[in-house]
Amino acid sequence: MTTHSLLLLPGDGIGVETIAEVERLIAFFNAKSNTARFHVERDLVGGAAYDAHGVAVTDEAMDKAQKADAVMFGAVGGPKWASVPYQHRPEAGLLRLRKDLDLFANLRPAICYPALADASSLKRELVEGLDIMIVRELTGGVYFGEPKEIVTLENGEKRAVDTQLYTTHEIERITKVAFDLAKKRRNLVHSAEKHNVMRTGVLWKQVTTDVHKSYAPDVKLEHILADNCAMQLIRNPKQFDVIVTDNLFGDVLSDEAAMMTGSLGMLPSASLGAPDPKTGRRKALYEPVHGSAPDIAGQGLANPIATIASFGMALRYSFDMGKEADLVDQAIARVLDKGLRTGDIMQPGMTKVGTSDMGKAVETEL
Ligand code: ATP
Ligand code: MG
Repeated sequence: MTTHSLLLLPGDGIGVETIAEVERLIAFFNAKSNTARFHVERDLVGGAAYDAHGVAVTDEAMDKAQKADAVMFGAVGGPKWASVPYQHRPEAGLLRLRKDLDLFANLRPAICYPALADASSLKRELVEGLDIMIVRELTGGVYFGEPKEIVTLENGEKRAVDTQLYTTHEIERITKVAFDLAKKRRNLVHSAEKHNVMRTGVLWKQVTTDVHKSYAPDVKLEHILADNCAMQLIRNPKQFDVIVTDNLFGDVLSDEAAMMTGSLGMLPSASLGAPDPKTGRRKALYEPVHGSAPDIAGQGLANPIATIASFGMALRYSFDMGKEADLVDQAIARVLDKGLRTGDIMQPGMTKVGTSDMGKAVETEL
């Protein structure tokens, strides 16, 4: 029997309600699995932590996050905390987790469940059966590079500067994540950059080509210009398997891909750190892409599927439970096939359910 430790950080708003449905599934696996057990810790983050402790995440919670095999994060923020001091705003809790755990690889799958193909922004035939993975570099690039400033010039004009900056090491570690993922999927990586106009693009292309040598010929590498990648995603998304790209292009491309799958309430994500030299285990945080949705919080209306699918990613990437992760994905697909819908994905003729009934239905299918 293997024991996996998991820290639950529900946070605020609908994060609390959707993480409760993950707890339901954890209890299910603990009761049914004879190979793995989950040891669960809980703590506060975001506005909830600020109300209790005056900070968006405490050192004790950070300590638990460092020790856990994985962190499940709900969502943070809401109008209640609109005027708290900037350094204690709810989002600061998530930023500290990302920084201290050095979560440099952001994985955003775009999966189109057949039952929701008509809710996509693209035609059904383009997206039905879609399953792509966008791997975005999360801790470097233009969002963090120095100098980063707005200066006033002598003539009174202003000049703004952001700096796009990448090292060989940063590119190597993110592209390795992408190739490792592709090996377990359909063996294809597209690396998106703009080497035609950016020096970081030139280095990105070189390093990716070098890293690829230890994955060839099993995994295929295609270099693609980021703007062309954006276009191809709309023209024919099923040509892709894994797309690896920098922080800025990844921000844009992952949102673009998200719209092919229906609702914000359906989208999971994972953020991974470097493998431990001894155990090979990566620090990891799993969270839905959506926020705390203050407009529907506390009413049992939230769609828990994004958070449940994030737990599915934890099973796959942190706990080596790929078979169970497949079962979770299949359970979600079957619940949708049966016509159960929360408000955000409601369609004519379907059965409207709340957060806990959706979670229970997934458990039943499991
Ligand atoms: P953040 O800044 O935290 O990302 P946001 O402003 O992007 O937040 P969300 O909190 O993600 O906003 O919500 C955006 C809209 O989508 C809201 O109207 C919300 O009700 C809806 N929404 C988000 N997540 C879900 C969900 N899981 N189920 C149902 N509706 C949702
Ligand atoms: Mg948002």
